[in-house]
Amino acid sequence: LFDFQGKHVTVAGLGVSGVPAAKALHARGALVTVVNDGDDDRAREQAAELEALGITVRLGDGASLPEGTELIVTAPGWQPDKPLFLAAEKAGVPVWGDVELAWRLRGPDAAPWLAVTGTNGKTTTVQMLASILKAAGLRTAAVGNIGVSLLDAVLGEERYDVLAVELSSYQLHWAPSLRAHSAAVLNLAPDHLDWHGSMEAYARDKGRIYEGNKVACVYNVADKATEDLVREADVEEGCRAVGFTLGTPGPSQLGVVDGILVDRAFVENRQKNAQELAEVSDVHPPAPHNIANALAAAALARAFGVPAGAVRDGLRAFRPDAHRIAHVADVEGVAYVDDSKATNTHAAEASLASYESIVWIAGGLAKGATFDELVAKSAKRLRAAVLIGADRALIRDALARHAPQVPVVDLDRTDTGAMLQAVTEARRLARPGDTVLLAPACASMDMFTNYNQRGDAFAAAVRELGA
Ligand code: ADP
Repeated sequence: LFDFQGKHVTVAGLGVSGVPAAKALHARGALVTVVNDGDDDRAREQAAELEALGITVRLGDGASLPEGTELIVTAPGWQPDKPLFLAAEKAGVPVWGDVELAWRLRGPDAAPWLAVTGTNGKTTTVQMLASILKAAGLRTAAVGNIGVSLLDAVLGEERYDVLAVELSSYQLHWAPSLRAHSAAVLNLAPDHLDWHGSMEAYARDKGRIYEGNKVACVYNVADKATEDLVREADVEEGCRAVGFTLGTPGPSQLGVVDGILVDRAFVENRQKNAQELAEVSDVHPPAPHNIANALAAAALARAFGVPAGAVRDGLRAFRPDAHRIAHVADVEGVAYVDDSKATNTHAAEASLASYESIVWIAGGLAKGATFDELVAKSAKRLRAAVLIGADRALIRDALARHAPQVPVVDLDRTDTGAMLQAVTEARRLARPGDTVLLAPACASMDMFTNYNQRGDAFAAAVRELGA
């Protein structure tokens, strides 16, 4: 265990990870200084709370390295090229993220971690995994980049047998000594490249999740980049590479045969070469990308020794979070589906692949993405498109290039009320049997506070139509 007594530790960033980190370090005798870029009301409130404990807080000054700093514990979102980190590197000061801190602080009887990362599907997979582990009677929680912080889980009163941990690429970047029991990388597509600097650096950070794995490195057979990361990882002896596929599984893989999820990696009865786990219809919703998520969750659970029956029960009990392919209503034979959480093109592609004839509502902030591949792959499924938001011209141009036959309504507005108009237009364009799908492929902040509000606006508009 690391000895923090009398150490000068700088915590970079207040907020969900910074405040509990500062408190935990202070409680272990560290001399803590918190630095924070902003000094708005919320920051002041948090600062006051910490100062009352005797912790130093510098608001509006996140750039300079406090004198005598021996360790930095940073909020995961802080970009590695910030002056603070460049100064730290020069001075030979190590930098940990919230995950690294939680890893170092966990007690001797700590629960092992089953970890999940990937560009899309992390939250869903981790929740499925927790549901499966619970069905097996294990004490567990879905934690990490998912609402419940790892620090709270590790330092809290509650005792766990195993943790289902969602890790972002940022968190992995700052977690050099993390060693999971088993881990999965679901998929890899360009995202957050401005933060990581390049696709290579992004992949390298994601690949950190496999380092030191004990039992299984779970990869996506359809996404070779994930398998490459397993090959490059330095794991414990006996740790296996386990693939998941929507097709027939090979040895050491989980896959799908005749509508049944089957496991050929962790077979309980040696007489058999495959173990049946669950039916495709046990997965909610049974969209292809979500079956992939279920297989990844099952692989991690099986690596932990969970029996097949618990995988089935856990998947049956699982319901996805709001705004992830949520069926809102059927109006006049048309299904309205809210996938507001499809905030990048890779997610939207999975979403569009889940339906046959779609009136697609898309647009928002593109974050530097291009839409040619998405539109080219999805063109044959599109009945029509309705575009909203700041960067809609990028999607309109991609549609003109790759799907010129698809009618497009380009709503030249970015106000919140635009959603009602978009849904009204979509209703006009849809035919019975179609799906009106909100899968924006973009971030929401040009028009909404977040993707939740965007999805709520969609659902409210649908209800207004249906009334
Ligand atoms: P994350 O936590 O990685 O953001 P979520 O589980 O919240 O992932 O899902 C976000 C969105 O990504 C979903 O709304 C869906 O559109 C899409 N998605 C989910 N799983 C996958 C997957 N395995 N592959 C591609 N897209 C996915």
